[in-house]
This record gives sequence, C-alpha cells and structure tokens, in this order.
Amino acid sequence: MTEIKIPKEYQWLYQREGNPIVSYPDPVLRKKAKPVARVTPEIHELIEHMMSSMHDAYGVGLAAPQVGVSLRIVIIEPIDQPARVLINPQILDREGEQIGLEGCLSIPALYGDVKRADKITVRALNRRGKPVLLHLEGMAARIAQHEVDHLDGVLFIDRAISESLHWHLPEEGEDEFEGATAHVGH
Ligand code: ZN
Repeated sequence: MTEIKIPKEYQWLYQREGNPIVSYPDPVLRKKAKPVARVTPEIHELIEHMMSSMHDAYGVGLAAPQVGVSLRIVIIEPIDQPARVLINPQILDREGEQIGLEGCLSIPALYGDVKRADKITVRALNRRGKPVLLHLEGMAARIAQHEVDHLDGVLFIDRAISESLHWHLPEEGEDEFEGATAHVGH
C-alpha cells in the first residue's frame, strides 16, 4: 500500500465541500467492499447517484466506495462507449499487457503510469441483476481493472510505476478523468 503526501498547493482540491466524491485519504477507499446481496430499488438509486456523480466530474469510471458506499458496484464508461454497470464484478481472465497514464477522481491532480492486462474477461451482474460475461480490451479493460481494484481498497498509486507519479493541475479545456487521462507528456 503506497501512501502519498498531498502538496500544499493541491490540498484545496481534496477539501471541496459538497462534492459527492470521497477524497484520499478517506478510510472507505482502503476498505474491502461487500458484495451486493440483491439488486433492490435502493441499489438502483445508488447507481443513479454514482452515474450523475461520475458525469458531473467528467469521469470514465467510478466505484461505489468513491461515493462513500462500501459495496461491490462499479461503472465504466470509456469514451465513445455506453456506460456499463457491473455489480459484484470478478475478473476471471487476464491477457497481455498495456502501460498507460491513470488518474483517479478520489486523488485529484496526481497521475502516473500503470501496467495493466490488455484484455480481461469479467463476470458480473448487470443493473437488472442479470449475470453477464464481458470481454474487454484496451481502455475499457484498463478502466475496469482500476475500478475493480477500488472494491478491494487498492488505489492506482499502489500499482503505478513510482517514478512516473507526478502532480499536475489540468488546465481549462484539458480532460481529466478517472482511470485514465487525456493529458500526456508530463
Ligand atoms: Zn479511481
């Protein structure tokens, strides 16, 4: 488990009042989340809340612990792909390797390169509680691995190549998103 020290000039990003997304080092981010026993109307409400929180933050993925709820639910929404809700996701198979830049809505302004599997097979329940099997690759696979890690209390800083970790404040018009970022070259 890697811990980080937030530089003074970035601390305000971690104290935004009214932000539904929990920031590091909130302990909920380090807890192992519990499986969802039944997909109830309350779970649907939670999913709606996660979806709007993710969209408000221009995220491409979000895990329930990031809104303070320690349950095994993630959303992935790679650019140009529809949002997918994965309840109790399990990564059954990993293939190949990719290295790419990641950031996290719960760790604003910190970025680093992370090595991930290039292709994965995931078993989960969809938002209607129906079992599904997904084959994901590239960015979708990267986001899913980042989000499933959140359910086990694992953050991208634990997996990042440590020399690659760097602080950067995205400028107006520059994309910043969960799981990956369009900003490169730092
Ligand atoms: Zn994250």
